[in-house]
Amino acid sequence: MKKLIYYAGVMTVIIMLLPMIIVRSCGPAPVPEPKDEAEPVKICEISVYNHLTGVTERVDLEEYIKCVLAAEMPADFDMEALKAQAVAARTFAYGRISGVYRSKQGVHDGIDVCTDSGHCQAWMSKESAMKRWNILFASRNWARISKAVNETRGIIAVYEGSVANTLFHASSPGRTENAEDVWSGKSVPYLISVESSGDEASKGYITSVAVSVGELSEKLNKTYPHAELEGDITEEIEIIDFTAGGRVKTLRVGSITMKGTEFRSMLGLRSACFKIDFIDDDLMRITTTGHGHGVGMSQWGANALAKTGGTYREILRHYYTGIDIIGISDYEAIAKPN
Ligand SMILES: [Zn+2]
Repeated sequence: MKKLIYYAGVMTVIIMLLPMIIVRSCGPAPVPEPKDEAEPVKICEISVYNHLTGVTERVDLEEYIKCVLAAEMPADFDMEALKAQAVAARTFAYGRISGVYRSKQGVHDGIDVCTDSGHCQAWMSKESAMKRWNILFASRNWARISKAVNETRGIIAVYEGSVANTLFHASSPGRTENAEDVWSGKSVPYLISVESSGDEASKGYITSVAVSVGELSEKLNKTYPHAELEGDITEEIEIIDFTAGGRVKTLRVGSITMKGTEFRSMLGLRSACFKIDFIDDDLMRITTTGHGHGVGMSQWGANALAKTGGTYREILRHYYTGIDIIGISDYEAIAKPN
């Protein structure tokens, strides 16, 4: 009888506990102990002034870089050249965001960048880029640009612990320029003349324009009101010397001595690497080689390096002497130690 009462008691306990056991085993799994938190992905935003619409937007830095890449470099360039361009463009943008570099006063004060290539960097919306490209290649082009940006996410170039000024241009005539030969000022250790090969593959690498003496005289007088052109034109223009990068450094035009870059700007030439041939008493032919100011990375040279196996890091280190290539998070850890 005692045994019977004992078994009845055990069964009662089991019957009472069973639902609790079942409910517990079907409920939510216990919350695991939190592990060490992974480093959060840094969200970096940039304010962009659209110079065509007058609208300013804050956008994700990486999305902005995709639109710069779409406007600055042909999407069918080698992937490593696209990546080098992405890092150069991101470094420029981050220089503005971080306040290391500022834009010219009065154009878009308080806003990081604008979409005017003549002032900041070229920029093109995804929608515009897709329309501009051949419909057969548009999706592929955007995918290539996205890949180049995504695979270099957050990476910038720095020199001795400070954000580098990663200037770039379309093509160079064999060598890039020293920064101080293009813009007056101190030399920049990482913006010095280096070899650039393969640039001749670019469209318009060598271009000729005809300029009449009348046109030259008119433009000269706009810039230099007291300049005089007298006598035989062949005697009036004289190239005096060249830069380390092979462009015209100084020349004399009539009574004025000017920099090759000023002559280029005055006549809207593609490059300060030019030669002048006199066709007759009234007309001359100016032939330029390369395109752009010539400082920093040559885009066509970068593509040529990439085609011979150069990685984006090798391309950047070639054109920006002595730089380091690091993540923005690492840079900020160095720049602003906690
Ligand atoms: Zn701007």
